[in-house]
Formats: sequence, structure tokens, C-alpha cells
Amino acid sequence: MVFWLDAVWAAGGTRVLNIVRICGIFIVLFIGGCVSNSSLENSAARIPMIDAHSQASKYVDLDDIIPLMNKAGVSRTLLSARRGLSWRKISSLALANPERITASIRTKGGIYRDNSPRYYRRLNKQLQDPTFGAMAEIMIYHAEKRKGDAPEIDVNFAEPQPAAAISAARSKGWPIILHIEFATLPGDEKRRAEFMGMFEEFLRLQNGYPVALTHLGQLRAKEAGRLLENHQNLHLITSRSNWYAINQAGQPWTEVVAVGGLVPAWRDLVLKYSGRFILGFDNVWREDWGWFYINQAHIWQKVLQSLPPAVAHAVAHRNAERLWGLPTANVP
Ligand SMILES: [Zn+2]
Repeated sequence: MVFWLDAVWAAGGTRVLNIVRICGIFIVLFIGGCVSNSSLENSAARIPMIDAHSQASKYVDLDDIIPLMNKAGVSRTLLSARRGLSWRKISSLALANPERITASIRTKGGIYRDNSPRYYRRLNKQLQDPTFGAMAEIMIYHAEKRKGDAPEIDVNFAEPQPAAAISAARSKGWPIILHIEFATLPGDEKRRAEFMGMFEEFLRLQNGYPVALTHLGQLRAKEAGRLLENHQNLHLITSRSNWYAINQAGQPWTEVVAVGGLVPAWRDLVLKYSGRFILGFDNVWREDWGWFYINQAHIWQKVLQSLPPAVAHAVAHRNAERLWGLPTANVP
């Protein structure tokens, strides 16, 4: 631009330069007006989103996270560490970006599975760090993924590892988040029914204390409806439940959002239990933190727009704000 103005100056003198100046001012005003108007329109219509459950590993550049959240339109992420990333890095990121990141305590990993003393030491160190504001998902049942990259985990609610994390979450006033893949539970019908019975007993034992299932527990709509009806403290996090994510995973994740929008049975549940659904994306792997995330966020933004505003705002951010005591989210 400077070079171009110099060239004009050399060629035409003051009169030409003045015309260029006036045009330039108009161009700047016009473009400026367009940009600020359209971003105002967008932010007025867009619904702020909180991602209640995502993770970062050593393979993810933490400097990319906030810019990606900006592109995705996500105001805040409840973020935990996994796979070679120290929980201290998550704590630092949250400390530097208190409006955008809530540090979430990591429980999962080999030391959790093996019930190693190191698991309790890591848990307690995180609990002592006042930056943390949530307890990340506690593994109960997880089928093997990626040929052992994420091995099978099968731990009962009452075993010491989940019990320690559950009581820690309660002592901090944070919801208890559980990872259970009901669609891939091993064993026959009888064993699955027993497991469901144990889960419902667990919900009852919490005496109304909020419990949330990541990835909607892989529940089908009918079963989810029955559980939401019978257990007022049950909440469902929507991670991995859109067609776009499911297509790439080859896992029996629950499909809440199909290509055409909310699946009717799930739309009914979201409308009926709007206080019990929580938006989440569950970014885990390096490839999750990129276009895959931005596209899913755009799919969800469209879905939210299709709901009555009170319902959309509840699912997108208000339920998370209430449950984790977060400030009101704004569109980034
Ligand atoms: Zn999970």
C-alpha cells in the first residue's frame, strides 16, 4: 500500500494523491462498515457455546486452542490433560485465559486403570491447585479403541479409583462426569441389565447430586428418556453425537444430530428435558483439534438455531454455567 501511494505521488502529484486519499477513506469506511455490521449481525444471532468436555495431549499445540475456539464460536472449554501432557500445562493455560478455559482434573490413564498410588498423588496435587474448576470424565466402561491406543477399561463405581474422584468432585461442588459406553458393554442381556441396575442405584445414591454422562453414555433415545424421567440428577453431554463425528469414528456413538438436523426422538427429549443436556465436543486426538472441530461446532450452532431460544441457550451454555458455577458466556 505504501509502495503504491509512493508510486502515485511520483507520477501524478497532489491532485491525484487527494483523489486516492478520498477514495481510500471511502474504501476503509465501506469495508469497516461491512465487517462490523456483519460481525454484529452474526454475534447477535449466534448462541454462545461452552464445550463441557475436551482434552489435549502432548500432540496438540496448546497455542492453537484459543484461536480454534474462536473459529468454532466456542466461548469456553472445560479442558483436561491426557497422553503425555502434564496437568500443569492445562492449569497454566486456564490461568492465562480465565475467560476461555476451565481446567478440568484428569483422572484417566494407565495409573488409574492399574490403581497405582501415583493416581492418588496426581489427583491430590490437582485438587490442591485452585485453578481447577471441574472434574473430567471418570472412566467406568470404555471399549478398546484404535487397536489398544485407548485400551479397554472396566471399573465398578465402588472401586477405589472412581470412588476417590467422585468424592473429590462432590467435595468441590462439581458435577460427577462418567464415561460409560452402554452400547458396547460386554456380556449377555442379563449382564447388561445388571450393569444398568447398578448405574441406576448409583444415581439414586447421589441424592439428587448432578451426574453427567459424556457422549450421552451411548444410550439410545428410548433408554435415555426412561433414565431422564426416573433420575432428576442425570445429565447428558452431547460429545460425539453428530453424524459428522460418527461417520469418521466407526463406533456405536449415539446419533442425536443427523444430516437433516436433530433426530426427532432426541429433539423431543431435548425439548422436554432442556435443563439436562450439555453441549460438549470431546476433542481428543490431534486431528480432532482442527477443521473437524470447527465443522462440528458449526453443525451444532445450526441445530441450536433450530430450537426455541430458551432451550438452545440452556443446552449451549446455561446448563454448564449453572452446574459448574461459570460466568455467563458470550460469543467469542
Ligand atoms: Zn469419554
